[in-house]
Amino acid sequence: MLVKTEGIVLKNMKYKESDGILTVFARKLGKVSVMARGARSSKSQHLAGAQPLCYSDFVLYKGKSMYTLNNVDPIHNHYKLREDLDALSIASFFIELVDTVTIEGQSNNRLFTLFVESLGALERKEGEYALHILRFLLQFLKFSGYEPYLKGCNQCGTGNSPQWVLNMEEGGLLCQRCQGESPGLAKPLSKKGIRLANFLMVIDIEDLRELKVHPKLLKELEEVFQRYMMIHLDKTNFKSLDFLSKIRKGY
Ligand SMILES: [Zn+2]
Repeated sequence: MLVKTEGIVLKNMKYKESDGILTVFARKLGKVSVMARGARSSKSQHLAGAQPLCYSDFVLYKGKSMYTLNNVDPIHNHYKLREDLDALSIASFFIELVDTVTIEGQSNNRLFTLFVESLGALERKEGEYALHILRFLLQFLKFSGYEPYLKGCNQCGTGNSPQWVLNMEEGGLLCQRCQGESPGLAKPLSKKGIRLANFLMVIDIEDLRELKVHPKLLKELEEVFQRYMMIHLDKTNFKSLDFLSKIRKGY
């Protein structure tokens, strides 16, 4: 059976002499492994489309145990991302996040669109890097089913409190009164931080370039939501994030 779908290559693993096993996040299929015969050979017509980050139209043949690449037609190769180490490292973080939550047979259209749009804007250098990281992280959490509740107190429902904390495990804000009752694993969040997080969770990618945010606020949100992400994905070791933190300068 042949399946036509858009997809983005997350990984390309060498197999035998010139074959590759691609990990593709496909709009229609979720994450799939694809055997790409000869795709690592320089003569292959599939070489370009088999590169990580390439966004393509795929024709896949569904075999008994895995998919085989029948054809790949690049829509956008994102080559320019590879010329900028910061942008490439951020894209690698996006790949690692997507790779962690997606599974075969479970499509996630909103996450797919977020991924495609974010890679495009990152490549065109629209918007600050730190905002890209944060917007992607927050919308990624939302579309993967881990959206934090930031509209008011998760326990009593109030929208007013002199200060707030985010209860990491339950995934929601707690007002000052409710903090005492269930301290749990919580991190303080400023009011400005809460407002910005709510905004980034819904903002269109085109509007990111207009946005200017104080670096201190970005840092606060990154620390809180990276920790939140690690708790909810049950994974603390993100290679791409470690690398990114080493090369980041001034953002
Ligand atoms: Zn409360």
